[in-house]
Amino acid sequence: MVHIKKGELTQEEKELLEIIGKGTVQETRTLLANKNVRVNCLDENGMTPLMHAAYKGKLDICKLLLRHGADVNCHQHKYGYTALMFAALSGNKDIVWVMLEGGAETDIVNTVGRTAAQMAAFVGQHDCVTVINNFFPRERLDYYTKPQGLDKEPKLPPKLAGPLHKIITTTNLHPVKIVMLINENPLLTEEAALSKCYRVMDLICEKCMKQKDMNEVLAMKMHYISCIFQKCINFVKDRENKLDTLIKSLLKGRATDGFPVYQEKIIRESIRKFPYCEATLLQQLVRSIAPVEIGSEPTAFSVLNQAITGQVGFVDVEFCTTCGEKGASKRCSVCKMVIYCDQTCQKTHWFAHKKICKNLKDIYEKQQLEAAREKSQEENDAKLDVNSNCVNEEQPHAETGTSQEDSSQEDSNTKDSVEGGKECLQSDAELECIQDSPAGPQTSEE
Ligand SMILES: [Zn+2]
Ligand SMILES: [Zn+2]
Repeated sequence: MVHIKKGELTQEEKELLEIIGKGTVQETRTLLANKNVRVNCLDENGMTPLMHAAYKGKLDICKLLLRHGADVNCHQHKYGYTALMFAALSGNKDIVWVMLEGGAETDIVNTVGRTAAQMAAFVGQHDCVTVINNFFPRERLDYYTKPQGLDKEPKLPPKLAGPLHKIITTTNLHPVKIVMLINENPLLTEEAALSKCYRVMDLICEKCMKQKDMNEVLAMKMHYISCIFQKCINFVKDRENKLDTLIKSLLKGRATDGFPVYQEKIIRESIRKFPYCEATLLQQLVRSIAPVEIGSEPTAFSVLNQAITGQVGFVDVEFCTTCGEKGASKRCSVCKMVIYCDQTCQKTHWFAHKKICKNLKDIYEKQQLEAAREKSQEENDAKLDVNSNCVNEEQPHAETGTSQEDSSQEDSNTKDSVEGGKECLQSDAELECIQDSPAGPQTSEE
């Protein structure tokens, strides 16, 4: 390739950079067809058209440039930024994805030694961190589906590559979710298959740690999932209900407060067993978790999850109590204090939740009363203060989860029941009103 000098742009290339900022895909396409336009030209700062498009959040133009041969790993920028870094800074996770699919290296660092994921974390673009840290191209797994060296058989039977890839690219690392993913695929629930999978993950973990550009995040993720696979083996071997039993064990809460002790211990144990004790990430995790008493915050899961996916838990988003899936919206209709993806997750959790549902209900009602009292106090104050007709404007917030929904309680109930999860939550609501059932929702197997 001809050496491209910084800042030596043709008139048409200058136009191209301008169009990327303000113009359309069509205009970009027209300019790219011009013989005076080089797709990897560099402006005076060493930015390529792809970097400009990534930084400006132009998804379609990024795709177009990549199709035209844009170099996704160009590293001529004066601060060593790559197109992936600009994408991560722009906060557009689709563009981040497109760059990764286009072969962007995640380990390149800028002039102050930061990777794209670290830069994204630094500016609070956590969705982009998640996308980068969880990117694992299928080809890297497919390598293990062919016999290597003196092996007669591949380490991973080809039919397992798809299901395993689905699990190792998951962005929800909740142990229950991982066991659910394993459990839903009969190919994976055999002892032999589980063994092969966990050994391959251990090999990937080793590779991540021993390669020149070490990737501790991916190594830790592989190790953690491998540990869960190994737990599954124990349960598949000698328990009756196999993985369902493991899920129950993970969800079972202790008598005092329902805290899932076994789950916490498993996650702590898996972190402790990480084989590379010199890893910075391991030391960080241990420092955050070791002083915490079991049952207190932060949980080992939240610490691990944040380290791997960059997600700072429980901000603005509701997570399923059973499987940790983001965006769960179905509330237990009795206590209104726990939230699930759907009826299946609620049923799975009921054996544990029923022991504390009543207590949670009392807490919830106390909070509601408290909020109502505060509100009427505020309203009275407002009436006294203003003495005008703008007093009763403020409606109670209908957002679920806030403690201010006193008088809109019925509304939010209906809303929850209508938006999917119908049968379960609606019938719960009926049970609650008609029988005032002391036993809680009758959705479980018991
Ligand atoms: Zn769920
Ligand atoms: Zn409940």
